[in-house]
Amino acid sequence: MQKIIQILTRKIMAVQPYLREPKIYVSVVVILLLGGGVWKAELSSPVELKALAPHSETPTPAPAPAHELEVSPVPSNIYEVKKWVAVGNYGAALDLAISEGSTFPPPWDEWIKNQLPHLYAGAAWIKIKLGNCQEAMPLLLEGVALKETVELSKGLAVCYFKEKNLIDGEAYFLSYLARNPDDVEFKRLFSELLQSHGRYKDALAMVEGVSDPGAEQRAQELSRRLDLEMVHEHEGAFKISYEAGIETDLDLFAREVLDDALNEYSQNYGLTPPDHPIEVELYLSNDFSSLNPKAPQWAEGIYDSRMKIPLPKPPFTAEHRELFRVVLRHELLHALVAERTDHRRLPSWFEEGVAQYASCIGQRCQGFQFEPTPGQFLSEDILSKEFISLSSLDARRAYRQSYYLIKMLVKTKGIEGLRQVLAKLAKDTSITPDAILAPTALTWAELYAQSKEAWAARQVLGSE
Ligand SMILES: [Zn+2]
Repeated sequence: MQKIIQILTRKIMAVQPYLREPKIYVSVVVILLLGGGVWKAELSSPVELKALAPHSETPTPAPAPAHELEVSPVPSNIYEVKKWVAVGNYGAALDLAISEGSTFPPPWDEWIKNQLPHLYAGAAWIKIKLGNCQEAMPLLLEGVALKETVELSKGLAVCYFKEKNLIDGEAYFLSYLARNPDDVEFKRLFSELLQSHGRYKDALAMVEGVSDPGAEQRAQELSRRLDLEMVHEHEGAFKISYEAGIETDLDLFAREVLDDALNEYSQNYGLTPPDHPIEVELYLSNDFSSLNPKAPQWAEGIYDSRMKIPLPKPPFTAEHRELFRVVLRHELLHALVAERTDHRRLPSWFEEGVAQYASCIGQRCQGFQFEPTPGQFLSEDILSKEFISLSSLDARRAYRQSYYLIKMLVKTKGIEGLRQVLAKLAKDTSITPDAILAPTALTWAELYAQSKEAWAARQVLGSE
């Protein structure tokens, strides 16, 4: 039975993806000269990559008294614990095991003691799979204080990874990987965490020589990055790395823009910063392209758990600077939403519409400026899928119309409506279009229909 509980606990870790590789937003600049100003739109694609491989079964020794136990009569409270485990309710099994703690007769008292780490792990993993490390963490720590099992180490590594906490997480990564040296996905995660803390050589060592296409690509990127000799600066909510060839003044400029935008988003939309710093990387255009092969040549920025932005070679004009400001603000919005929703892929019209709406500054945000040939309003299906999968014409339209949809939302429900929508986003809330819009009492069908009609009538949607 001990083994059965362990196997059931492992199943819980394996049934469905519990940790996604970060989605990637590829941003592409489309500069439209409208009214003499520079209008920016971009292509973006939240690409959800494959989830972590399920945990492999590790043989565990059967407990000595197991045979005895199977033949001794099962007390009713033990029966109850087993029943909860059998239906996957580890939380209930754990509660019962703790509350009835002193009442289990021998040899069951010993048996239940041996189960506790697994019950803690099972209860924690249910939370982890909902993206809720906050509630999983105390369970994992209670469990590991009793005995460090492979499920508990893995859970702690995952949750510390999400917190970007290397100091506490490293030991669990090492302990888990010592027992599961072939877990390529976990090596990649550990490598990511090491990179976030500037340990590039260790990050590279973790994925070097691993025969897996993803690991090979990561190793190549890390070794190219090592050659670049980036400058790293961590202050406040942002960790900014930039290539030595980029003017220091731009790093300062970026920091100022990001700090201001963070305050603004927090005040206007309740989007508070995560507990860990947001990583920002600034590259010269050429290096950006070689380091981010998924980003098109004209990419203006990407967000893939780090904000990555290419910059033209000096001189950096005033116009470049203003564009840079908007890109920083745009990618920051993606970062805040991603952190809040556990990096899940939200409908593209929402992600891109909000990022454009929030990052817009100045005159150009007043009314919606139609292009000379704005085209039909795209289907709901197209507006929801990854924009990178669209033709460049459709993608450009999808961007414009995503922005239009959010402008319509604000026109109908006010900025307060948008604020409520963003404030309600969480790691474990539903992210269907209707669920996202629920706080405004507007359905997706209604918002879409209103926007489509207004688009056909070329309504500029005022200055909200
Ligand atoms: Zn975007």
